Amino acid sequence: MTDRRTVCSTSELFNAADADIVFRSSDNVVFRIHARNLAVTSGGFPPAGFSSADEIVDLTEEASTLELMFQFVYPRPQSSLEVLGFNELSKLAEAVEKYQIYPAMQLCNIFMTNALPENALGVLEYSMRHGYPSLSNRAAPFVTLERISASLNTVSPTLLRAWIRYYDTWNEKIRHATLTAPSGHKCANWSEYQRKIFFALGELTGIKNDVSIAAVITVPHFASICCKDDAARWHQNFSKKISDASMPPALYH
Ligand SMILES: [Zn+2]
Repeated sequence: MTDRRTVCSTSELFNAADADIVFRSSDNVVFRIHARNLAVTSGGFPPAGFSSADEIVDLTEEASTLELMFQFVYPRPQSSLEVLGFNELSKLAEAVEKYQIYPAMQLCNIFMTNALPENALGVLEYSMRHGYPSLSNRAAPFVTLERISASLNTVSPTLLRAWIRYYDTWNEKIRHATLTAPSGHKCANWSEYQRKIFFALGELTGIKNDVSIAAVITVPHFASICCKDDAARWHQNFSKKISDASMPPALYH
């Protein structure tokens, strides 16, 4: 809380002379903010330990994140979040959750949702940490074994534990796909179609998204209508079973 570090600069946007709280980013940029604005827009300010208006409050976020975040505590036009890369967006999303900047929380949530499927692992971390279970379930199918293995050094143990349970459940459902296959189909081509579908499903182990499955449980376009109907039925049953596989509840806190 004491002012020991060199102040490099002051935010151009947040530099009002009559501001009564002074924050400093981790990269030494100062932000002068009106306490009354924080009081009406956020639930997380002032941070624990804050005592006097004369002190500079050090925050762990970088200036680029704070500059975006503080825009949401003033009635002013805000920067477009659309132009942010995922890294910047997720830092902002973390900050607005941490300080409970209510006007920005839903917006960040929407943008994080739109960052699927490419940023599935980051979105999954965010959704589990802040308690958005339906977003966790949307992100989880895109977090493949390959993706999570590549990030083993950064992924949280909590996420890893929950994801492994989810991964096991999913693969078990793929193994039991035979149970959802329609039975009693007599026509000559069906057994060959079925064999191909089983084979393709086997290759899906560890790959968990509805799109891949839709592509697999299908018959050629020239197949007879009875085979098309049963493939459609099978696909529907299997998708329903797969949709029951949800991420275990977040164990953070
Ligand atoms: Zn048939």
